[in-house]
Amino acid sequence: MRVYADNAATTKLSEKALETMLPLFTEGYGNPSSLHSVGQAAKTELEKAREKVAKAINASFKEIYFTSGGSEADNQAIRTAAYQGSRKGKNHIISSAFEHHAVLHTLNALKKEGFEITLVKVNENGVINPDDIRFAITDKTCLVTIMTANNEVGTIQPVEEIGKICREKGVLFHTDAVQAVGHIPVDVEKIGCDMLSSSAHKFHGPKGAGFLYVRKGIILKNLIEGGAQERGKRAGTENLPAIVGMAAALEEAVNNLEENEKKVSSMKKILIDGLSGIEKSRINGDTEKSLPGTLNMCFEGIEGESLLLLLDSKGICASSGSACTSGSLEPSHVLLSMGVPVEIAHGSLRLSINEYNTPEEMEYIVRCVPEVVSYLRSFSPVWDEIKKEEK
Ligand SMILES: *Cc1c(COP(=O)(O)O)cnc(C)c1O
Repeated sequence: MRVYADNAATTKLSEKALETMLPLFTEGYGNPSSLHSVGQAAKTELEKAREKVAKAINASFKEIYFTSGGSEADNQAIRTAAYQGSRKGKNHIISSAFEHHAVLHTLNALKKEGFEITLVKVNENGVINPDDIRFAITDKTCLVTIMTANNEVGTIQPVEEIGKICREKGVLFHTDAVQAVGHIPVDVEKIGCDMLSSSAHKFHGPKGAGFLYVRKGIILKNLIEGGAQERGKRAGTENLPAIVGMAAALEEAVNNLEENEKKVSSMKKILIDGLSGIEKSRINGDTEKSLPGTLNMCFEGIEGESLLLLLDSKGICASSGSACTSGSLEPSHVLLSMGVPVEIAHGSLRLSINEYNTPEEMEYIVRCVPEVVSYLRSFSPVWDEIKKEEK
């Protein structure tokens, strides 16, 4: 059996999205900026996609800017607020320690440019306390950027409360909603955010497309100079097939949201019931306030990397955390920010499933993981130590 359980890293393209994209490579290959009929047909497709994307998050089409993905959207949102802030003498930005690297590394770059960055704490369940944001805001604060849902542990953040605080204080609020859009309800009015990032390949759209929602009235700063595409805010000929595929995938995801949430949650329950009994294991992050398909666990006395390789040899594709950290031997910054001890954080496993998975696959995972964990522990000196200390 082959089980793909790494959907937080990327998802399979939906059939519907693929079908919508194909004619744009063969017939509808026009440049939306061209004045002739082939170009104008492409322009029409582009604007139809913008309408669909806007509708999915309760925004206006004028508030949607297409990007190359989540990373670009995060960079552009943060740079926009920083630029706007610095012109008013405001150089303080608030975020959290467990954001995606697209946010954290942008903030690091801004720090070198003279910005002051506050990273609020995350509690042991992987949730941020909105009051910590309230207390961190000063009259120099130009931006709060907090993710809607975490990509490693799946916890959903109190973004509506944070949005309210930011509005009260007159501070811009950006949220990285890459893991949330298409998986749980996302409504920009309810959240009260000023900017929101999303990426197509996390909801069965193609890679290389994403969007940034920007509330009316905010002037976006462009990262790429050139032509007048995206109202002059993102130069470069549009990746039309990917954008149109993204809109189709998002429409499909939103139409089936409730049904998928139910199906995926019940499969996650099989995983939790089957795996939480493993000796010296823990589930990382609140299991209630979390994405339906993300489960993160640690097993003491083993290395996450070895666990992944052995699971892969049994046909199970999983992750130890974010795809960006794998390959490095550093434990996950997300788990460390939640106070998981370094030696335990090394033995992490992230299973991320969605509606394309089946309950049979879950049963298979539940059979394989305990086997592999016991096998690895059977020759782990760290495990021997843990057992010795017990006695
Ligand atoms: C995947 C991901 C990103 C990056 O999106 P790309 O489209 O791959 O650039 C950003 N933030 C979060 C939370 C993600 O999960």
